[in-house]
Amino acid sequence: MIADRRPEQATSTCSFCPKACRFACPVSEATHSEALSAWGKMSAAHQVLTGARPMGADLASAVHACTGCGRCTAMCKHENEVGLTLFQVRGHAVQAGVQPRGAASTLATFQQAQNPFGREMGSLVASWRAQRPVKYPLFPGCSTLVKRPSLLEHTLALSEAFGAPMGVARSASKCCGYPLYAAGAMEAFGAHARAVAEAFEETPEVAVLDAGCAFTLVKLYPEVGVRLPCRVRTVIDVLHENLPHAPPAPPLAERVGYHDACHLGRGLGQYDEPRALLSKAVTAVVEAPSIRREGGCAGGGGLLPRTMAETAVEVARRQALEVAEEPSVLIVSGCPTSTRMFERAGRRAIDLVSLLERWVSQS
Ligand code: SF4
Ligand code: SF4
Repeated sequence: MIADRRPEQATSTCSFCPKACRFACPVSEATHSEALSAWGKMSAAHQVLTGARPMGADLASAVHACTGCGRCTAMCKHENEVGLTLFQVRGHAVQAGVQPRGAASTLATFQQAQNPFGREMGSLVASWRAQRPVKYPLFPGCSTLVKRPSLLEHTLALSEAFGAPMGVARSASKCCGYPLYAAGAMEAFGAHARAVAEAFEETPEVAVLDAGCAFTLVKLYPEVGVRLPCRVRTVIDVLHENLPHAPPAPPLAERVGYHDACHLGRGLGQYDEPRALLSKAVTAVVEAPSIRREGGCAGGGGLLPRTMAETAVEVARRQALEVAEEPSVLIVSGCPTSTRMFERAGRRAIDLVSLLERWVSQS
């Protein structure tokens, strides 16, 4: 996945490029700013890395104006890893003390509580722990635990209905650490990843609900030399495998729009599995003109909702329009963060797991 891990080489490639991915970036499009295109942000990062300009608040803002969606990479003939490079360069903003306020507060909260919500997660997880052995230990992600317990309820109920019972794992009290990575705190992320890996030693396999967490565990941990001692799968992957065991139920008479969440699609290559599940659950599915590897972004990654909140919502609003112009269409995503972003943009949205639970509950 990482075409070139050296930030200097990656930023150099972009700064000498004729902006070939000009229209790929959702942040640039939402802000109408060429300075915030992949080319513009990587050129700013290049100036920092070569010492041409010191890292200041303006350059820090530029390198934080990225969700890490990977859409530019998908459209780049060099497959240049813009998002991950910009996240690395954010480390210079940490060192210079010029992080945008939302990134600095996220980092401070994380350093205090080991998660971005400042919550004590152990007791929260204990209230959900399985009371009996289950087939799949479940890692919901702290965002779902804190903000969307109904999605967790739906996941547990749906896994039973599919004959693949899940139960919240003890390791679920740990945040995967993605906010540290997105804040550019790479050393802290590496240390956190090693601690999380120890917590995963209790189980040979884990099902992960949040696509961002799964992407972090599977793709980002190896970047800092950490390999988990267990197999990591997404809940969607497990449900897809067990789809033949789903109870018979007619599809819901609902027309929905499917959004390829960045971490699930470009990040983990899961394009067909969610579509196969969705095709059983509803009568009609519409999609954006650009899908799969070239699909749009919902604005929830890279700390953008914390550093450029209005822009993040505008990114979601624009992507929702791409998926379906009619506001009545229910937008479905395999990533809880994307679902929340569409809701913040005023659209009807639902997690794929919750929609599937609604489908099987008819029977
Ligand atoms: S990501 Fe690729 S296409 Fe886009 S500016 Fe960089 S080198 Fe050019
Ligand atoms: S990773 Fe996404 S948000 Fe970041 S520069 Fe590329 S297209 Fe823009």
